[in-house]
Amino acid sequence: METFDAIVVGLGAHGSAAAAALARRGQRVLGLERFGRGEAFGSSGGWSRMIRIAHFEHPWLVPLATASWDRWLDLERESATGLLTRTGGLYGGPGGSAIVAGARDSAAGHGLAHEVLDAAEIHRRWPILQPADDTVAILEERAGTIRIDRAIEAQLGIVEEAGGQLGFDRRVVDWRPATGGGFEVETADGQVAGGEHLVLAAGPWTAEFVPDLELPLVVEREVPMWFRPTVEPATVGADRLPIWVLRDEGTAYYGIPYDPELGLKVSIHHWGTFADPDTVERAVGPADIERVRAFMRTRMPAANGPLANAKVCLYTNTPDETFVIDRHPAAPGVAFASACSGHGFKFAPVIGEILADLVTDGSTSWPIEPFRADRFAR
Ligand SMILES: Cc1cc2nc3c(=O)[nH]c(=O)nc-3n(C[C@H](O)[C@H](O)[C@H](O)COP(=O)(O)OP(=O)(O)OC[C@H]3O[C@@H](n4cnc5c(N)ncnc54)[C@H](O)[C@@H]3O)c2cc1C
Repeated sequence: METFDAIVVGLGAHGSAAAAALARRGQRVLGLERFGRGEAFGSSGGWSRMIRIAHFEHPWLVPLATASWDRWLDLERESATGLLTRTGGLYGGPGGSAIVAGARDSAAGHGLAHEVLDAAEIHRRWPILQPADDTVAILEERAGTIRIDRAIEAQLGIVEEAGGQLGFDRRVVDWRPATGGGFEVETADGQVAGGEHLVLAAGPWTAEFVPDLELPLVVEREVPMWFRPTVEPATVGADRLPIWVLRDEGTAYYGIPYDPELGLKVSIHHWGTFADPDTVERAVGPADIERVRAFMRTRMPAANGPLANAKVCLYTNTPDETFVIDRHPAAPGVAFASACSGHGFKFAPVIGEILADLVTDGSTSWPIEPFRADRFAR
């Protein structure tokens, strides 16, 4: 049996970040991923994500988002790969709605540069957006997009550079304490590897790995989509349009500026279809596309051109719309993370550090009390 300092199960956003953080600390790492490199059938598919600093959901996430922003820039330099594009971020809905109040509190409470805009001003600045008349939005300066396929590759590159091993198409079927200390991990092909530390970052499959903790995680099918706008694409590119989230008639829609490779992203935050990650419908159907086109017909008619790309992707939600990041109470050398609820990617570099801290030091100086697994039972 080959042994390592640390084994990481799952090489999406957070597993690849944890593997990179461990490799940076001189740990000999084995990373195991059930699918092929770049296939991303969990939560990290679909090429692009928003990075927001103001968090309308939970203003206390701002310091973690700020630190993550800086770490993405560091990774960009280290990997010499373009990862982050600054666009600014617009978050709005009916005046008085939770998204507006949350974004305003988050920005004002943390001294983030921002403006408050009404519907007419939004349309004046970005004619492609035609929000409802009662819309109010917060525009924050520091927000943008992350190319997540490249970001994960950059994190994996750090592991490989440090001599770590990565195994793709290797599904982990069991983990257990080893008799001489540490842990053993078994893959579907019958191979067993040993590790002093173990990180479980299995995204929508997290609950399978810690069944004893009965985590209340719910997997939701999402369908991000990209369109060819009917206006000149350059007018809605990253230097002209911010990332945006707009609540309209009870549904939150979001979008990312035009990327020549992908198109203009417009989709729904929380599609409301709950699923098993092994049997979820992976094909994108006409009813999916119509849900987004119905919004675009009223609020973004100039975005409503041919569909350029679409990919089913999965949210793993906690009841409080945050994350679970903790050590296993019965196996302290094991740490696990389900950090999604539809907004976890941006935090990956910090979450990787937290996971590395938890397995190597047993604790972390990052504020993880709100992420503890036992909060649901408390
Ligand atoms: C449509 C969509 C839009 C989003 N938008 C944003 C956004 O704008 N901003 C933002 O910050 N976040 C966003 N998110 C959330 C973000 O993408 C997730 O928080 C993040 O990708 C979660 O990464 P992960 O590593 O926890 O999970 P995953 O990426 O799912 O990684 C887990 C990995 O574990 C592997 N695995 C599972 N079981 C096994 C096994 N038995 N053996 C080996 N490997 C296994 C899986 O194959 C998978 O690759 C969005 C998510 C979706 C789906």
